Amino acid sequence: MNIHEYQAKQLFRDYTIAVPQGIVADSPAQARLAAEQLPSSAWVVKAQIHAGARGKAGGVKVARSLDEVGAHAKAMLGTRLVTHQTDAAGLPVNAVWVEEASAIKNEFYLSLLIDRDSERLIFIASAAGGMDIEAVAAETPEKIVRVKVHPAAGLQAYHCRQIGAALQLGKEQQGQLQAIMSGMYHLFLAKDCSQIEINPLIETEDGHLVALDAKINFDDNALALHPDIAGLRDPSQEDAKEAEAKQFDLNYITLGGNIGCMVNGAGLAMATMDMVKLKGGAPANFLDVGGGTNKDKVKEAFKLILSDGTVKAVLVNIFGGIVKCDVIAAGILAAVEEMHLTIPVVVRLEGTNVQQGLDMLKNSGLGLVPAADLNQAAELAVTLAEVDAGSRPSSTLTPSMEGDRP
Ligand code: ADP
Ligand code: MG
Repeated sequence: MNIHEYQAKQLFRDYTIAVPQGIVADSPAQARLAAEQLPSSAWVVKAQIHAGARGKAGGVKVARSLDEVGAHAKAMLGTRLVTHQTDAAGLPVNAVWVEEASAIKNEFYLSLLIDRDSERLIFIASAAGGMDIEAVAAETPEKIVRVKVHPAAGLQAYHCRQIGAALQLGKEQQGQLQAIMSGMYHLFLAKDCSQIEINPLIETEDGHLVALDAKINFDDNALALHPDIAGLRDPSQEDAKEAEAKQFDLNYITLGGNIGCMVNGAGLAMATMDMVKLKGGAPANFLDVGGGTNKDKVKEAFKLILSDGTVKAVLVNIFGGIVKCDVIAAGILAAVEEMHLTIPVVVRLEGTNVQQGLDMLKNSGLGLVPAADLNQAAELAVTLAEVDAGSRPSSTLTPSMEGDRP
C-alpha cells in the first residue's frame, strides 16, 4: 500500500527524520491559511497523489506570496495530475501540501528497501539526487552506493559512515545522516514497510539535512497488524476495479483481451490464461477468487469481469478443493440471473461435489456452457468470444451436459 507525501512526512517526524514544516489543505483558502501559519517568506505547494515525478508535471510549485499559494492550490485541486509514473488518465488531486521553501545546496537520493537476493535490508544512496534514480542507475551506475544491513546486528554507525562518505558529507551532516538512517531503519521494521524513499534528501544552505520528499510503501500482508497505517489508505488513488476487488478480498488485475476469467487460486489462474493464449485468445483479466470462496464473492467477481463491456465470453475454471463445486454453481447462477447475462459463460468445474454443481448448472436453463476439462474450456471460450452474438448458432451454446464428466 502507498500513502501520500504529507502522511509519510508525519511518520518521518515521528522517527527523527527531519522534514520541512508543512500543512495539508483541500481548498485554496485553506492553503492560504496554511501558508500564513508557516514562518516563511516563500512556500512550495505540492499536489498530493500516489505517484512521483510531480515536479516535472507541474505538481510542485514555488509561491512567493499568499495570493500565489492560493492560486497554485486552485490550479491543482480538483484536477488529475499526469506524470510519467501515472497512466494517461493521471491521478486526482484532492489535497495539496503547503510547506516552507528550503534553500537547497545539495540534492541526494536515499532509500531503504529489501534486497531479496541477500535477504537483507539495503540502503541505496546517490549524490545525484532529485533525479530519476532509474536513469542514474542506467547511465551512471558508479554514482549509486549500496549498503546492506545484517538483521542480527542491525544498523551500525559504519553503515552510516559508508553512505556519508559516498555523499561526501561534512562531519556535522554525518551526525544528521545517522539520525535519518536510524529513523528510516526503525520505521521500516516497526511498520512493515516494503520501501522508504527520500528523493531528494537535501543539504540546506545552512547545513541541515532534510527530507524534501517522502515515499513509503507498506507490505499489504502485514497491514492487519497496523490499523494506524491501514487507516491512511486513499482509495481515490487506486485503480477503481482493483480497489473494489480488494474490498471483496479478490485478487484482480485488468488486462487487454476479451475473455473474462474467473478462477480460484493464482496458479490455476495463470495456467488458465496460458491456455486461453495457447488457443489463440486473449484474457481480459487475471482474477483469483481465492481458495475458500463463497457465493457472494463469485457474484462480485462476475460483476467486476463484466463491468467494462469489452468481455465477449467468460471462462470459469474452478477446482473445488477447499470450496465445494455446488457452492460455486450457486454463485454463478445467482450472478448470471441477477445480471441478465447475454454473453456465453463456459464453466469447467472439478473437485468436491462436482456432479451436484454441474447438475445445478444444467437444470438452470440459463444456457451455460459446460466443459469437460481445461483444454476444452479454453477452446470453447475462445471460439465463442470470436463468434458474433447475433449469428451464434444456439447449439454451440448448449453442448451436451450429459457427457460432461471426463
Ligand atoms: P516529485 O518527486 O514528485 O517530483 P518532490 O517532492 O521530489 O516531488 O519535488 C520535486 C522538486 O521540487 C525537488 O527535487 C526539489 O527540487 C523541489 N522542492 C520540493 N519541495 C521543496 C521545498 N520544500 N523547498 C524547495 N524546493 C522543493
Ligand atoms: Mg521526489
